[in-house]
Amino acid sequence: MGRKFFVGGNWKCNGTTESVKKLVEVLNQGEVPSEDIVEVVVAPPFVFLPLIKSLLRSDFAVAAQNAWVKKGGAFTGEISAEQLVNLGIPWVILGHSERRALLNESNEFVGAKVAYALEQGLKVIPCVGETLEQREAGKTMDVITDQLKAIADKVEHWENVVLAYEPVWAIGTGKVATPDQAQEVHVDIRKWIAANVSEDVASQVRIIYGGSVNGGNANELAHQPDVDGFLVGGASLKPEFIDIIKAAE
Ligand code: PEP
Repeated sequence: MGRKFFVGGNWKCNGTTESVKKLVEVLNQGEVPSEDIVEVVVAPPFVFLPLIKSLLRSDFAVAAQNAWVKKGGAFTGEISAEQLVNLGIPWVILGHSERRALLNESNEFVGAKVAYALEQGLKVIPCVGETLEQREAGKTMDVITDQLKAIADKVEHWENVVLAYEPVWAIGTGKVATPDQAQEVHVDIRKWIAANVSEDVASQVRIIYGGSVNGGNANELAHQPDVDGFLVGGASLKPEFIDIIKAAE
């Protein structure tokens, strides 16, 4: 079976009750391909998760943007995977480059989070990607391999994983990777998974691209054979998110 196109919207730390309600109205009215063709997930800040879940159209799902690395308890300010499950939140984004860079989340920490969230029954979008400096030094795949290995070392079952390749230099910068650049890295990631996890997982796991995707560039990127969808930041807060979803067709 082919890999179903996947579009995630990462709202990051944006929005007020009023603005997220307006955004949901826009999303709920958008005409998009059917659920057989595209899977859509939006990730509001934690505080809006129950509200958005209650208002959002039933063919879109919600995701959290983070979860604690193990069972909840005395971890002030954290949200546990069990709590997300309890709220009926099916997805979580883990290891976003902003958290890796600003909050010092190491590869091992992200790997442990991914494994724990999966064990609790969440579906996970782990993010990997290189900085501009690393790309220019020819280290793109070395960096991504280290990030992937830390996940693969702890994860046995990959059915509930959608892997996001997000070059750090393309996130929020307006500098989107070219379709060829995205395709090249996605192929290399698939090869690494084939060699280090299994051929089956490599052919089935969805690898989505993130970094300055918008309504204008989504179509061409979506036509790359190994680009199975997108993780979208800035443009997921705008009506053009609907155009990005339509790139699935
Ligand atoms: C992101 O933060 O996941 C992202 C891809 O952001 P943007 O689309 O704004 O580059």
